[in-house]
Amino acid sequence: MTPETAALFMAVVAGLFGLLIGSFLNVAIHRLPLEDESVGRPRRSRCPSCKKTLAWFENVPLVSWVLQLGRCRGCGWRIPVRYPVVEASTAGLWVLAAGLTGPEDLGLFLVWILVLSGLVVATFVDFDCFEIPDEVSIGGMVLAPIASLLVPALHDASPVAQWMSDGWQAGLPVTRAGALLASLAGMVAGGGVLLVIGWVGKRVYGQDAMGFGDVKLLAAGGGFVGPGGALVALMLGAVLASVVGVLNMTRFFWVSRTRSRRRRNPRALLRTLQVARVAGRYIPFGPYLGMGIGIALLAWNHVVQFLPWPA
Ligand SMILES: [Zn+2]
Repeated sequence: MTPETAALFMAVVAGLFGLLIGSFLNVAIHRLPLEDESVGRPRRSRCPSCKKTLAWFENVPLVSWVLQLGRCRGCGWRIPVRYPVVEASTAGLWVLAAGLTGPEDLGLFLVWILVLSGLVVATFVDFDCFEIPDEVSIGGMVLAPIASLLVPALHDASPVAQWMSDGWQAGLPVTRAGALLASLAGMVAGGGVLLVIGWVGKRVYGQDAMGFGDVKLLAAGGGFVGPGGALVALMLGAVLASVVGVLNMTRFFWVSRTRSRRRRNPRALLRTLQVARVAGRYIPFGPYLGMGIGIALLAWNHVVQFLPWPA
């Protein structure tokens, strides 16, 4: 097998397994916030609406949703677009990870798809319920140091890891001790910076500006991307969330302005602005923080070489 064939083969396998795991992540996203169901129970997938156990052909990622025109065959319940979106994005992220690591970096690939899948779950649970499951955030904090010891290449670009790797030179891999230290420093930096921002926000605005779920999520992410990566992830997440926040406020403004015009009440414009301001602010931060962590994870190695200081 030529290296090109091996890389192509790996990407195809990653895509197919990504679809399957994406379908499993859908179950996790639906069940993790629920009290009386767990990921493994009930054992078979079922329709959340009529509780009918699904046959294998109703459970094929993407294909079933398309063939059934987005509806349950039993009760006609409209299956949320989230289901095919989660399956497609998991598969897409796995293919991307396969393309960036290649067959010779299998350890790195496995850690990357684990982190990316956790981020998919955190993102969609946060969109749905405004919370990030501890299974993802605390689980990530437990796994990050272990993964760093097993796959030190995770932290090849981290100045902390390089500084700890005795006699390290540019281009050399970092040692296990260096990777472990970078992971711990990343957790402290990621969790710490959000704790400080949350504390200042509470002092200034007198209300909780930052959910503790976000603190735990960035702590876990920092364990995989190191302290520099954690700060990059936070900056990217803040920019993405601001853009979406402004778009959201604009949308609320247009909707409520159209409504008040229909009622021929010109004085409602000021109230409309106030409503839009309040409504537009309520977007979850986790999904954008998660995107920041994902980008830092996949791109930090490439970004770091363009930094003005020697790394
Ligand atoms: Zn149904």
